[in-house]
Amino acid sequence: MDNRTSFRLEPTGLELRFRRATLAAREWLTPSYVRVRLQGPELTGFRSLGADDHLRLFFPEGAPETVDDLRAAPNREYTPLAWGEDWLEIEFAIHGDPADGTAGVAAAWAATAPVGAVAGVGGPRGSKVLTGRPDAWLLAGDETAVPAMRRFAQAMDADAVGSIHVEVTDAAHALPIDAPAGVRVEQVHRGTGPAGVALAARLDALTAEDRPTGSVFGFVAAEQSIVKPGRALLLDRWSLAPEQMIVKGYWKRAEMEYHAPH
Ligand SMILES: Cc1cc2nc3c(=O)[nH]c(=O)nc-3n(C[C@H](O)[C@H](O)[C@H](O)COP(=O)(O)OP(=O)(O)OC[C@H]3O[C@@H](n4cnc5c(N)ncnc54)[C@H](O)[C@@H]3O)c2cc1C
Repeated sequence: MDNRTSFRLEPTGLELRFRRATLAAREWLTPSYVRVRLQGPELTGFRSLGADDHLRLFFPEGAPETVDDLRAAPNREYTPLAWGEDWLEIEFAIHGDPADGTAGVAAAWAATAPVGAVAGVGGPRGSKVLTGRPDAWLLAGDETAVPAMRRFAQAMDADAVGSIHVEVTDAAHALPIDAPAGVRVEQVHRGTGPAGVALAARLDALTAEDRPTGSVFGFVAAEQSIVKPGRALLLDRWSLAPEQMIVKGYWKRAEMEYHAPH
């Protein structure tokens, strides 16, 4: 670690594994956000080292007999939230309407697949592992980034300081995140506006004077249009080093199966 920074993001590889699992339980946290538990013996040994790791989840129709058939199913990227001996939990933002086909294959599966439905789990393949201790944290994202923000918040120590900004529709869709007392968690309401606009305005409102002192870790992830205001804040106004931040589009408006650049 160089002496100007108190932490580092270290790229770490994991052996790529492909596992079969089934939907074991579903818990709705808001009317459009659901936590899903996958279960199965192949999940034994599952590991995820980085808070913003992603998996590729595969959503077959029915129960494919071969691994190749399961691998051929439509797939999307998700963040492993929590796991244990033979289970894995994922949280899904439910968008569109599963009934009329506007939801996307992943959101529709998470909202409506029957308990026992088969899914494939690929990865995670690589992680950025945060070592050391940031002097302060700035996390900002929409529903899709809540699992990663929950994992970063879990990694904070008790006297961590900073802020977490979560863009959701309104108070009825709030997604609280457990964080130490010195980390303010703020729900940013988009109302009927397009995704990302309210969060971008919140980031635009932060000035150079709002920068916490010391080594700040920044994480910004939401609809792709958040990348520009995220970089403008963290790189331009707060002068964070590119290797001390993660700014990513997690999905793109009007684009199916968006692949974020890694
Ligand atoms: C590294 C990474 C980690 C991610 N982790 C999570 C996670 O833990 N939980 C999670 O919910 N998502 C997560 N995402 C986002 C998720 O991969 C996308 O939202 C994905 O497109 C959803 O697939 P789908 O089949 O539901 O929709 P798609 O078939 O991909 O898209 C169908 C339509 O829905 C739109 N759409 C897609 N996502 C949303 C959305 N959230 N809100 C409104 N419209 C949308 C698309 O623009 C398109 O028009 C992550 C993405 C990345 C890159």
